[in-house]
Amino acid sequence: MNSQGNTTSVKVIIIGGVAGGASCAARLRRLDEQAEILMVERGPYVSYANCGLPYHVGGVIEKESSLLVADADTFRSQFAIDVKTGCEAINISPEAKTVELRDLATGIVTTAAYDKLVLSPGAASIRPPLPGIDLPGIFQVRTVPDARAIREWIERGSLFLTGMDRYSGFQTVKPKIRAVVIGGGFIGLETAENLVHRGFDVTLVEMLDQVLAPLDLEMARIVEGYVEHHGIRLALNDGVAGFRQAANGSLAVLTKSGKTHPADIVILALGVRPDTTLAKTAGLEIGGRGGIRVDGQMRTSQPDIFAVGDAVEVKDFVTGEWSLIALAGPANRQGRIAADVIAGRQSRFRGTQGTSIIGLFGAAAAWVGASEKTLKRIGDGDYEKIYLYPNSHAGYYPGAKPIALKVLFRKSDGRLLGAQAVGEDGVDKRISTLAMAIQMGATIYDLEEAELCYAPQFGSAKDPVNFAGMVAADILRGDMPLSHWDSAENGFLLDVRQPPELAVEQVPGAVNIPLNQLRSRLGELPRDCEIHVVCRSGQRAYYATRILLQNGFKAQTISGGLLSRSMLVADTLLDTDVSR
Ligand SMILES: Cc1cc2nc3c(=O)[nH]c(=O)nc-3n(C[C@H](O)[C@H](O)[C@H](O)COP(=O)(O)OP(=O)(O)OC[C@H]3O[C@@H](n4cnc5c(N)ncnc54)[C@H](O)[C@@H]3O)c2cc1C
Repeated sequence: MNSQGNTTSVKVIIIGGVAGGASCAARLRRLDEQAEILMVERGPYVSYANCGLPYHVGGVIEKESSLLVADADTFRSQFAIDVKTGCEAINISPEAKTVELRDLATGIVTTAAYDKLVLSPGAASIRPPLPGIDLPGIFQVRTVPDARAIREWIERGSLFLTGMDRYSGFQTVKPKIRAVVIGGGFIGLETAENLVHRGFDVTLVEMLDQVLAPLDLEMARIVEGYVEHHGIRLALNDGVAGFRQAANGSLAVLTKSGKTHPADIVILALGVRPDTTLAKTAGLEIGGRGGIRVDGQMRTSQPDIFAVGDAVEVKDFVTGEWSLIALAGPANRQGRIAADVIAGRQSRFRGTQGTSIIGLFGAAAAWVGASEKTLKRIGDGDYEKIYLYPNSHAGYYPGAKPIALKVLFRKSDGRLLGAQAVGEDGVDKRISTLAMAIQMGATIYDLEEAELCYAPQFGSAKDPVNFAGMVAADILRGDMPLSHWDSAENGFLLDVRQPPELAVEQVPGAVNIPLNQLRSRLGELPRDCEIHVVCRSGQRAYYATRILLQNGFKAQTISGGLLSRSMLVADTLLDTDVSR
């Protein structure tokens, strides 16, 4: 008898045996001992860590076997799940409730019957039909065999010195291997970083005018400055037009602007699109973003067919729009929810927040919820944004690093909408905290009151999360009218920094009255116009704004001060103290 009290066992076929599929299979077995579960995987491995692939390419994860989280035998022996690898599902017949399966080694096609079917086919790498795209030396990073092929190529390249052990000095100097990575998403950037670690000369070509498209431009600029500082050459705003190979085997990447980037190896990381090939054979509804449409219980338009992971469209938690999210966390949770529902439980997916993080050269960029550009795209004008640069932990304890933090919230009720952060320490826990807050429908007033753990090596008595709430709440309560550079630059600018700072960084057109002289020099300021107050990071400007407001002036703090002028941040975030 199963958990629902049925004596007949339910037959479940799961297509795709990695993140969503494997988590669905294992969860279903934990809920239903009687279910007949078949997991079908086209590739050679199930349940492997594709998130680790760039680090295997770079040698950080040395052994390929470390990527294999659980193998087919583990699923068979521990979970009594029938696993077929090297087996492709090629057709679904929803009326007959059958799936045609082709054994890729023999070509033999069999038909399997299901009561419930779960699709977790993932996403397919975008591979446009560009001239030369199939040339040797051009790779992608999607599967274990992909990573193996790159590593083998790199190891072959390192045979350059074989037989040269009798040479010395400059004769053994090996020219740097030139890698061109196409695509500035997280897979492209992670792979580029790993190739730099391998000693390659790396150029990254990106069609957009920024890396990491989910980030707002000014936050992406910080990442760009950082990775360039660590040796990645960026070629933004330029699409790839094709590839050529010279007689000596070296490649050339040709771009739409007419540039040529020489390369010994090319990595394609042009993004992914939902793999809906199989879903279409079943006539399942495909949404406007190109993914399989599912409801909150991961059911497709055919009630006995579920779909999860990169292949599906789900609702964005903040905007309510349909969205595509290719992330391991949602895929795993959705697989679990599909299993729950098949086992008779009422679990629901809450929607995605797109919570993401990327580590690069010891720093991290992370984001959650809506970006400013998303809010603009959907015509939502009811938002405010703040920039702040708190230290990752108490400034007096060694090792504190500034975090560049942008927080978006609703003007009308203070609801938290999104956040983005870049820094060398403490980024992950702040964005994870804010992600939880967003999912709980929290406001910036809740952030003010959040009680977070503190000792000087971990945080501050006013954690960056509290600090964000306090700054935002000051704005909504009218204690700190806010302005941004785009509007402030044409108004009356008051710079409250100390004179020595002006020698380093100027604010053209600004009147300088250092904060500690402001009370005695109020007579120098106009009373008939808005005064936009600036300092380096916004904190002293806030103090000055409070003085001005209480003395009858109209004053606004420029959010994030000079640091929020995006290009400046990229240069200065690296190792300066921005806590003032
Ligand atoms: C290099 C890389 C790095 C990543 N890093 C991160 C990260 O750091 N953080 C993060 O959150 N996410 C990361 N991701 C994304 C994450 O891995 C995916 O979001 C997640 O694996 C999606 O799970 P899925 O089950 O939908 O698809 P997948 O895990 O891709 O599994 C789909 C499987 O289905 C199989 N399949 C497809 N069609 C058929 C068929 N017809 N028959 C049989 N089998 C089929 C495929 O062979 C594939 O193995 C990364 C992805 C890659 C490639």
